[in-house]
Amino acid sequence: MARIAFIGLGNMGLPMARNLARAGHDVVGFDLNEAARAAFGNCAASGAEAVAGADAVITMLPAGDHVRAAWESLAQAAPDALKIDCSTIDVTTAQDLASQLPGMLDAPVSGGVMGAENATLTFMVGGDAARFAEAKPLLEAMGRNIIHCGDAGAGQAAKACNNMLLAISMVGTCEAFILAEKLGLSHQALFEVASRSSGQCWSLSTYCPVPGPVPGSPANREYRPGFATTLMVKDLGLSQQAAEEFGAATPLGARALELYEDFVADGGGNFDFSAIITMLRGMGR
Ligand code: NAD
Repeated sequence: MARIAFIGLGNMGLPMARNLARAGHDVVGFDLNEAARAAFGNCAASGAEAVAGADAVITMLPAGDHVRAAWESLAQAAPDALKIDCSTIDVTTAQDLASQLPGMLDAPVSGGVMGAENATLTFMVGGDAARFAEAKPLLEAMGRNIIHCGDAGAGQAAKACNNMLLAISMVGTCEAFILAEKLGLSHQALFEVASRSSGQCWSLSTYCPVPGPVPGSPANREYRPGFATTLMVKDLGLSQQAAEEFGAATPLGARALELYEDFVADGGGNFDFSAIITMLRGMGR
């Protein structure tokens, strides 16, 4: 059993902290929001108080600025604790933090709120291998796939690359269905062919953006998320920021970001990201 401080008890952090407690750890939480503190129950009055005496400190916060600000006070309060940030933030901030706080791990997740609740998240981890080995049993209480991706920042890098690919493949899948509609080809026929051919991808075969072929996909429930478009825009912003900072050409990633931003401007932000098919349809003649 470890004494764990969990900072950031929002949509993701709350179920993750609960799963750590369920696994038998002594978890003390903190969130700036009073309702979030009340939802978890066992909370300290400040972040510094939560981390005092902790073996491990985990943060699950909205963005890079929050993470930087939080760790300024947290690191002083628990200098020797295992430090893990599970938020999705930019690669450069993750690398900076690890150089200021040696041994710190970046460990963003995929799997969404359902994955957090069911402890089936995938963790993509960057940082020191020995620290990763220490962190793995804790992460296993919250997730199913725990992958060490490389040095500090590699977890955020993996997340940025994966989600950029996901956004591009979703737009491509939507375009294929829209062209099929114009050509008089049924959704089911395109699905049958493409899911067994070279067009196969997760956006098609697991998360199909039209209702019917994959009964569990958000298209079958009026595109309720799932993975909300606002979150996809955030992640695409991070991948484009990384592409610019590190000099990678990602023209389709850039275009996917523009399309998803347009969809948010059209009121699509709270719909699942596969709902972009409704905007793309409207762009045709
Ligand atoms: P959220 O907004 O629901 O929760 C963030 C919490 O952090 C809030 O309760 C907020 O009050 C708290 N907070 C902010 N600054 C703080 C500070 N200095 N100290 C203590 N608490 C502070 O966000 P979320 O959906 O839980 O997402 C958290 C992270 O996980 C984000 O980086 C997001 O991109 C990533 N993520 C989210 C999902 C998802 O489906 N929601 C999926 C994968 C990754």
